[in-house]
Amino acid sequence: MAKTGTLKSVPTLRDSVSEAEWAARVDLAASYRLVAREGWDEMLSTHISARIPDDPEKFLVNPYGVLFSQITASSLVKVDFEGNVYSDTDYPVNTAAIVIHGGLLEARKDVASAVHLHTPAGVAVSTHQKGLMPLNQRALYFQPILAYHDYEGLALDMDERESLVQDLGTENWAMLLRNHGTLTVGRTIGQAYVYMFFLERACQMQVQTLAGGVPLTELSDELIEKVPQQAFHWEHMGKLEWPALKKLLDEKEPDYKN
Ligand SMILES: [Zn+2]
Repeated sequence: MAKTGTLKSVPTLRDSVSEAEWAARVDLAASYRLVAREGWDEMLSTHISARIPDDPEKFLVNPYGVLFSQITASSLVKVDFEGNVYSDTDYPVNTAAIVIHGGLLEARKDVASAVHLHTPAGVAVSTHQKGLMPLNQRALYFQPILAYHDYEGLALDMDERESLVQDLGTENWAMLLRNHGTLTVGRTIGQAYVYMFFLERACQMQVQTLAGGVPLTELSDELIEKVPQQAFHWEHMGKLEWPALKKLLDEKEPDYKN
């Protein structure tokens, strides 16, 4: 049972962790706040993680019991891949976060951050048999980097890591968790968030397109193959967007950096 406490009582870690860890904490807190601003959070469910750059066998995750809109840099919990906690915190950590994020961060050393959500549009498309369909430009972008993972029940069993890691593979940066939700990973915390932004948009577009009830204009096989190749800059996604997004938070809710 978690002890009760207010986030105001969390002392700042700014001067007691490395500069690299502090920067990761600020960016991860920003990612949580931005997800909340978009309305993609689900009370306490779902999770976003970030590897600690100068302690790469450990990562940061949300204190289980704090809304995404209340998360601050200092309140994030440091854990290892097995779920051992290295922070002085009043809150537990969600077991599913350890299973999903610990497994992926351990296996994919090129990944700095992972975002996992249960938005209605993301869950809807994860349930569509054809997955994310190549119906529009945004969906086409994801074709070369999108994986699928079949549902195995609540992600509380460490054994699920093996299939999660295998399904994401070494080249993919987004995954639809069948009948469950969405997941993106990034080379940076900002990139994982921005990939999720566009995956979420693509899912919303598909749901609205299929809800129209009229014949669809489908794309040719040639275009379905050509467009992802044109999107060569995709791997740089987030470089321009992330500083602009953090600037928005600096203006609207600067306490995320506490
Ligand atoms: Zn989930």
